[in-house]
Amino acid sequence: MAIVVQKYGGSSVANEERIKIVAEKIRKRIEKGDKVVVVVSAMGKTTDKLINMAKNISSKPHPREMDMLLTTGEQISIALLSITLNEMDIPAKSFTAYQLNIITTKDHTKARIKDIDSTKILSELKKYPVIIVAGFQGITEEGDLTTLGRGGSDTSAVAIAAKLGINCEIFSDVSGIYTCDPKIFPDARKLSYITYDEMLELSSLGAKVLHSRAVEIAKKYDVPLYCASSFTEEEGTWVVNRLPEWLEEPVVTGVTIEENQMKITLYELPEENQVISNIFKKLADFNINVDMISMFSYGGKFHLSFTVLEDHKEIIENALRNVLPKTKISFDGIYDKLSIVGVGMKSSPGVAGKFFGILAESSIKPVLVTTSEIKISVLVPSDVSKKLLKKIAETFELGG
Ligand code: ASP
Ligand code: MG
Repeated sequence: MAIVVQKYGGSSVANEERIKIVAEKIRKRIEKGDKVVVVVSAMGKTTDKLINMAKNISSKPHPREMDMLLTTGEQISIALLSITLNEMDIPAKSFTAYQLNIITTKDHTKARIKDIDSTKILSELKKYPVIIVAGFQGITEEGDLTTLGRGGSDTSAVAIAAKLGINCEIFSDVSGIYTCDPKIFPDARKLSYITYDEMLELSSLGAKVLHSRAVEIAKKYDVPLYCASSFTEEEGTWVVNRLPEWLEEPVVTGVTIEENQMKITLYELPEENQVISNIFKKLADFNINVDMISMFSYGGKFHLSFTVLEDHKEIIENALRNVLPKTKISFDGIYDKLSIVGVGMKSSPGVAGKFFGILAESSIKPVLVTTSEIKISVLVPSDVSKKLLKKIAETFELGG
């Protein structure tokens, strides 16, 4: 007998019919002799609806009360799933985070899990083949309800799996991780395996399937994740620490595009120690996430370019004027960031050459470039990024 954590997302439990499909899936699993800890999200768009209700009453609802409100969504789905399983003669029992002592920090609406009481989970599993846990929620040491941030049920599921030292299966309406967006490159291939690091780097591809904090926890505690569809029996994707030995490391595992990257350049900055850190500290104070950075120095001065998400222009200007009252600031336009990611890059030279070769052949000049051990990103005009992605997918054989 093995114990496994299975997580079902909001669209998988959106109505009674779908809850029945989920219950069938769970039944099959326990018929194999396994015990299942099921973590569920709120039904469909419930969380959005609850947020809207609060916002209709107040523009600034108290975060503690928001958590009190939002945790109700998951409480509905755990009860309905448990009732459905019981109706099928499968003994099941549902639990809120409160009942399982899922302790979090006090940061309402964005709390972090500190500890989970596994003794309770294990003792309930002795009595029931399946227990159902409300995702997305926790309690503070003082006993206040908290939530883990949007999409947080993935995090609940992975944290429970980490605590119990077992695998975690994430079921949603997406059947796995693809080499690239099939909407852009219809021949995109579903991956059987991907590493945590690649998954974290492929944020835009991965985000639809897995919350990045959940991947971080999985990486930290080495929890193998399996992502698959709730509605089909199709093979999904394993997210793991290291690819299995028999699998040849692909040089490029995936390629993604992130849109709406605003490029900003600051001209003729003095080459003094604190200048750069002051700029980025100030942007951080204003909650601006800087992504790509490049600098160009000449004769004792330098230009600095960086990218941020588009919708912050005014705030950024404000922040920068704060530290650089006289500097020439130029907003250079909105671009796409295209990234190729692959653990195999570490050990195979020539990837950059091949990659920039494709750019050159397509007469595309990147305006910014950044790299890590397993990733190369280029900032390119938005009207050419999709064409470029297709070419890259073909060259690095990401189809089929
Ligand atoms: N119900 C929560 C949300 O919609 C948590 C989750 O779905 O993971 O964000
Ligand atoms: Mg959700």
